Order: sequence, then C-alpha cells, then structure tokens
Amino acid sequence: MVVLEGQGCVVTDADGRAYLDLIGGLAVSTLGHAHPALVQAVTGQVARLAHISNLSLHEQEVRLAERLLALVGTEGRVFFANSGAEANEAAFKLVRKHAGADRTYVVAARDSFHGRTMGALSLTGAARARQSFEPFCAEVRHVAYGSVDELRSVVTPQCAAVFLEPVQGEAGVISPPPGYLRAARELCDSVGAVLVFDEVQSGIGRTGLWFAHQHEGVLPDVLTLAKGLGGGLPISACIGLGRYGLVFDQGDHGSTFGGNPVSCAAAHAVLDTVEGDGLLENATKTGALLASGLAAIDHPLLAGVRGIGLWQAVRLTEPRARSVETHARQAGFLINAVQPDVVRLSPPLILDADEAQSFVDALPELMTTALTDPAHEVAR
Ligand SMILES: *Cc1c(COP(=O)(O)O)cnc(C)c1O
Repeated sequence: MVVLEGQGCVVTDADGRAYLDLIGGLAVSTLGHAHPALVQAVTGQVARLAHISNLSLHEQEVRLAERLLALVGTEGRVFFANSGAEANEAAFKLVRKHAGADRTYVVAARDSFHGRTMGALSLTGAARARQSFEPFCAEVRHVAYGSVDELRSVVTPQCAAVFLEPVQGEAGVISPPPGYLRAARELCDSVGAVLVFDEVQSGIGRTGLWFAHQHEGVLPDVLTLAKGLGGGLPISACIGLGRYGLVFDQGDHGSTFGGNPVSCAAAHAVLDTVEGDGLLENATKTGALLASGLAAIDHPLLAGVRGIGLWQAVRLTEPRARSVETHARQAGFLINAVQPDVVRLSPPLILDADEAQSFVDALPELMTTALTDPAHEVAR
C-alpha cells in the first residue's frame, strides 16, 4: 500500500481509496493529517529559520523546553533529538555518567520496547527485536513487567537505573498493576538508582493526560518523549528532572539535527492544539466510547479489550491479528497487528465519536472474515 495524502483522520492511497487511520502513524500523528495549525507552524518556521548549529540556541527550542518542563511540573533540563531511540540513548548515557563504574547494570522489563539502536535495543526486552543482534555492550537485566517482587530482587546498590514504560506499547498496550510505578520509585530511591520513564509512545496526551505517569502521580528522574510530540515531524526529548538535568556537562552529548527549529515549531503547534482544542479530554472521552463499543461486541474471535485513552488493544482468541489487519485495510480501516493475537489502535487525538463508531460497527464482520480465512498466519 502506498499512501499519497491525508486529511484529518483519513488517508488516501495511490489508487484513490480512502482509509480511516486508526494507527495514527504509530501514535505519532497527534493532530491527524494536514492539520492547519501544523501546516502553518512548519511552513512559517521553514521560511524564517530551518536550521542553526547547536553552537547556538534558537527561540523555538528554548520555549519548547520550558513548556515541556511546565507540563511535567518540575525544574530540569531538556535535550532534543530526532527519534525515540536517540532520546533513550541520551538517557542511557546520562544514567551511566551519573552512576559511575560501581553500578554495573541497568534494569528493564521483559517485552518492553525502547528502540533499535544498540543501546536502546539492549534495553528492549522484546525478543523479536533483540534476536540476531546479541551480545550487547551493556548489561541489562530484564524482569517481568508489573512484578514488584522481581524488581526488588534486581534493584540493588549495583543497579544504575531502571527503565520502564509507564504503559507498555509494543507489548500490546499493557498497564502495570496499580502501585507498580510507585514501588519502582521507592526501590530506586532506596538504593540510589535512577528511574527512567520511557514515554515515547505514551506521552503527549495518548492516555488522556499529558503523560501516562501522571495517572499514578509518580515522577521519574529522567523522562523520554518522541512519537506524538512533533505530530509527524521528527523530534524527541530526554528530560532530566531536577538535579538529573545537571548530569551532562557541555560537550558530553549532542545532535546535529536534534531540536531543529522546524520540528520544534511543529511541537508547539501540537501542544497549542492539544491545549486549545481539548484533545486530552477528547482522548479520554472518545477513547472510552471506542473501548466500551469494542467491549460490547460478542464474537468468538474477540477475547477482550484493554487500553487507556485513545490507545486500545483488541485481544483475539486466536493468533489472527495479521488477518484482521489485512481485512480491515480492505474495508477502509488502518489498524496494526502489534502482536500475533493483539490489534492496536492508536489514532490521532482528534478522532471523533462517529469515526470511532464506524470501526466498532465494522469489526464483527472483519473478525468473521479473519476467522474463516484459510490463509491466516498462526504466529509471527
Ligand atoms: C517507538 C518507541 C521507541 C523508539 O522510537 P523510534 O523513534 O522508533 O526510535 C522507544 N520507546 C518506545 C516506548 C516506543 O514506543
């Protein structure tokens, strides 16, 4: 499939067919496609200043850093890069410098996803991303996501940091049990390990709050953001909260393109529109409509629905997610088989109730077709 253009939550392919985009660029296209605020911000900025070396600051990045810190609700420092993996690489370096040589390993969760560069991949627990690339340079101990007991056994004085997604995305939109993030916070504090929250996918309103950690009211020491921040323009951020903003000295880290003025202008348009158009409320409200509509479907292939805000996972009773994805596309819906038996929805935060309902109405028939499709794949 080759996509030509988009408007709102709809994209059009090279054959002129239209699709409701419930993937949202993998949780990137916060404002949908061709949103006037994004178009205006980007075109205005590229006509003013497209790039400047990181030997100087520019206005857009300074204001954006201040805005992000205000949304997190702390003092700190912000490093801008271009992708989620790079933001996590920055966090990894920060943690290493802070910890010193006596703390030999870091902790992350099984089935987690933190990116595909070698450092971020060493943190990533998902086997299908790791295989073929081991061994890694860093020692990372992976524990079951959501288990405080497993966390307690590895968060020792030799542990430099704990990297966690407050809600796991690529694993299939999995929230930890209540109290897990707070327990991670307390364990890290008890041994002096750094707590890093990877909100590359969960951040910027996806869950109905600016950041997923705000649902539990637990702050990390380092926070990484990317996907939804630029609304489609490449930008990511590694935020050192409080004294963790002071770990890097000048020259410790950098990026030629990171935080370029155009991407920063796009991020301002995203933040302005999320605020001005009530998109956090919409993520909560339309997300709840979508979730309850899906949960009410009675179908032999539907095992259940889980998720938060406009971030929902449809669980299947059989590994036929690929088939559901394919048949959905033929019916005009873009959805993502994130696991063999899980379909993920991460639509733009502008999705309205009618659009959500149109998918709820279409899903039973799609699942029936997928269930009777002889060509379905059993496992990925
Ligand atoms: C997508 C993702 C990344 C990697 O982001 P890239 O921009 O693809 O490098 C890292 N962490 C999480 C939680 C993600 O969902």
